[in-house]
Amino acid sequence: MDTSYIINHLGEEHGNYFNAIAPPIIQTSNFMFETVADMRKAFEDEMGGYLYSRGLNPTVDILRKKLAALDGAEDALVFNNGAAAIYAAVVANVKSGDHILSVSHPYSWTVHLLDKILPRFGVSSTYADGTNLESFLSHVQENTTLIYLESPNSWWLDIQDLKAIADVAKARGIITLIDNSFSTPLYQKPIELGIDMSMQTATKYIGGHSDTLGGVISGSASMMRKIFESEYMCIGSGIQPFNAWLLLRGLRTLPARIDRITASTAKVLGYLKSVEQIESLIFPLDPSFPQHELAQKQMKGACGLISFYIKAQKMEEIEKFCNSLKSFRMAVSWGGHESLIIPKCAGIQSHEFDPKNPTHRMLRLYVGLEDPEFLIHDLGQAFASI
Ligand SMILES: *Cc1c(COP(=O)(O)O)cnc(C)c1O
Repeated sequence: MDTSYIINHLGEEHGNYFNAIAPPIIQTSNFMFETVADMRKAFEDEMGGYLYSRGLNPTVDILRKKLAALDGAEDALVFNNGAAAIYAAVVANVKSGDHILSVSHPYSWTVHLLDKILPRFGVSSTYADGTNLESFLSHVQENTTLIYLESPNSWWLDIQDLKAIADVAKARGIITLIDNSFSTPLYQKPIELGIDMSMQTATKYIGGHSDTLGGVISGSASMMRKIFESEYMCIGSGIQPFNAWLLLRGLRTLPARIDRITASTAKVLGYLKSVEQIESLIFPLDPSFPQHELAQKQMKGACGLISFYIKAQKMEEIEKFCNSLKSFRMAVSWGGHESLIIPKCAGIQSHEFDPKNPTHRMLRLYVGLEDPEFLIHDLGQAFASI
């Protein structure tokens, strides 16, 4: 299906809403029935029609259809945020006694789920380096039921060979789930490579304007139904109609925004390579990236995140650099219009800082929609200050 068709047409039934171009926000908690028979039908299959907005909602459904199609999946579920999508997808697929094999350094709240919540219910997890296929798969146990991937992963941007892992997991009856937030479904399509479920936070690139949260999982119709009828309905973390509408609005410009971000990121990366105070850079589609070949094979683009290590003996130097930036905002998240920076040392106290620990000297930069020259100028003056 053509991406332009999906984004601009699929799922929209203008005749149902006065031929308005923009879909309506159906801000209702419940839906009424003309007959008891109709109501019974809705009770029998809540995924088959509109009953109550904790289940299905027409505004959310437009978004849901588009996001499933962009992933090349049979169906999708849209959540109030990415963390809720991860929670539902994982919890739906484990039971007491099961084991999860996860890639190292996944998103922080994924770590919390695997380390703090699931052990209370008898589910254990192992983290392994996903860059080495054989050693990663050697951590599969008899009771492994789920493989959790994030490619590229947060901060280190390590990638995993998705097709190879999917093939092995399928043969062993293990379900695979990937956090595909980094690349968006326009630049990486894990379902087409054989991964069972693809998750992304819509808060980032889909929304694109830093004004709403959202999360998506996609996969087979039967998997989405299984999650809908249990975790989705029970956690009650489906996206609200207004936020779904904002995400639909963001989605219209996704291809244009990520094209722009990709072009600007190349320019900012080129500049950063010339900066004397930078020790090394991490960007999956740069030839210096150790897994560059694999990145090129499974990703069409890498959008706007760049990690780098700064040469610094003292934490104050990193702080001064960050505090001097005027156009890059210091904030968590990414994927919006605004360029951002976040230093790893914001998570430690100054007496803990060890210049020999490269992680302490790590920063992550997000290139937004501003003019790249405007951004490079800002970086230049901040590097000049240290
Ligand atoms: C932000 C983020 C999430 C969580 O998404 P929310 O919408 O903030 O809940 C999950 N994975 C990755 C890689 C993220 O960056």
